[in-house]
Amino acid sequence: MVQSISTLLVLGASGDLASRLLLPALGQLLTRHPERPVRLVGAASDELTHAAWKSIVRASFASAEASGPAIDALLATTSYHTVDVTDSAALSNLLADCEGDPAIYFALPPAVTTLVCDALTDVTLPDGVKLALEKPFGVDEAGAVALNHKLAQLVPEEKIFRIDHFLGRSTVLNLLGLRFANRVFEPLWSNQHIARIDIIYDEQLGLEGRAGYYDKAGALVDMIQSHLLQVMAVVAMEPPSTLSAADVRDAKGLVLRATKLRGGSPKRSSRRARYTAGTVDEQVLGAYTDQPGVKPERDTETLAEVTVDINTWRWTGVPFTLRSGKALGQRRREIVITFKPAPHLPTGLEGRDDPSVLRIMLAPDEMALEININGPSDPRVLERASLTATFGPGQLLAYGEVLESLFDGDPALSVRGDTAVECWRIVAPVLTAWRDGTVPLDDYPAGTAGPADWAPLG
Ligand code: NDP
Repeated sequence: MVQSISTLLVLGASGDLASRLLLPALGQLLTRHPERPVRLVGAASDELTHAAWKSIVRASFASAEASGPAIDALLATTSYHTVDVTDSAALSNLLADCEGDPAIYFALPPAVTTLVCDALTDVTLPDGVKLALEKPFGVDEAGAVALNHKLAQLVPEEKIFRIDHFLGRSTVLNLLGLRFANRVFEPLWSNQHIARIDIIYDEQLGLEGRAGYYDKAGALVDMIQSHLLQVMAVVAMEPPSTLSAADVRDAKGLVLRATKLRGGSPKRSSRRARYTAGTVDEQVLGAYTDQPGVKPERDTETLAEVTVDINTWRWTGVPFTLRSGKALGQRRREIVITFKPAPHLPTGLEGRDDPSVLRIMLAPDEMALEININGPSDPRVLERASLTATFGPGQLLAYGEVLESLFDGDPALSVRGDTAVECWRIVAPVLTAWRDGTVPLDDYPAGTAGPADWAPLG
């Protein structure tokens, strides 16, 4: 079926996000779905010639091995405008160059995004226009409320796509399928049978020249406040009746509204650390504080850990620990669900009786259920076994799934305004305590599992 044209208007088209993530994903999406005609309009303050813009787009597409008739059609019609996107007249002109229901993608620094929202209040927006925003959604709870207010003056909430590429279609659908299409998991999915849940996103990569952004954000804001709380909401939510935006986002909202720091105090529920020089995967990495652009006095953490409670019948008493860091020895991206131990081990059985653990790995999407079974040599001696499965792979890059939802006008997996505010509310006491120095900043050599005295997770 031939679909009507969508225009993707990228504000900040010459930036890192656009060329490294957005455009390659667009190329891949169009290669897989050539029936979906898309016109691409780029805008930024960079003075790019039309030819230079085309070669940026072509290079981004090549990096995703994108080709075919839809790619050729897009390259023939794409345009680029050198403008200040905070200027209302410039925005009006840009929108005049768009066809169909345009999607405006704010690939801009957050402060500039706010100015563009102000400028758009003086612009007549086309019917059906959609707005796609990148994290961070505000810089704190009040900032997120203010941003929501500005956006609400422009378009209805269902036209606002607050992007979280961790909530790509395939990852979320895999989680929902595992939980809600099997009777074996859902009856156990509560404080009756689960002891703890850890959501871990450890990277081996260091700063990679992103000091300008990262040194102001740190691991807590970069990962936990945004992505990991969203993943937690999907892991902990009640079964939605449908996959509609209203049902999925309501279910996530209920979880986040019930979430509080464990023990009520950041001192008990959070830890932070920063990497010193070390060796990661045989590569020598300098200390974080020696990286160009880093201000050591900012005390930015490169490893953050926060434990929360979800105060509902289902979850009260189960600690959810969210952790993410850079320059760690091992790359780990997993949700680790540790069940309570068996209430009684029949006398006569011996060996391993560790609790069962379900590991759900993110990228690549795999799962492993670790259980105790009677060993092959002596059936009275228990041994550990792992039942593994691989989820259906995502057909698209994470940003391809994001763009597909945007073009489809389905905001189910994007972050609703109220939940963006909740995520700031949850971490606000931690941010204050860390700023005040109430929680010490530990250190760890790059390439290790973190500070030596931190108990390992999962
Ligand atoms: P960059 O600084 O690389 O790019 C910003 C872009 O905005 C540039 O094209 C810049 O043009 C343009 N710009 C800034 N001010 C104006 C203005 N007044 N008028 C016109 N153009 C302007 O940022 P990123 O691409 O890294 O990030 C963009 C957003 O994406 C941020 O919100 C970030 O948090 C988010 N993000 C980024 C990720 C990444 O890996 N890069 C990952 C996830 C989210 P010029 O250079 O000419 O000023």
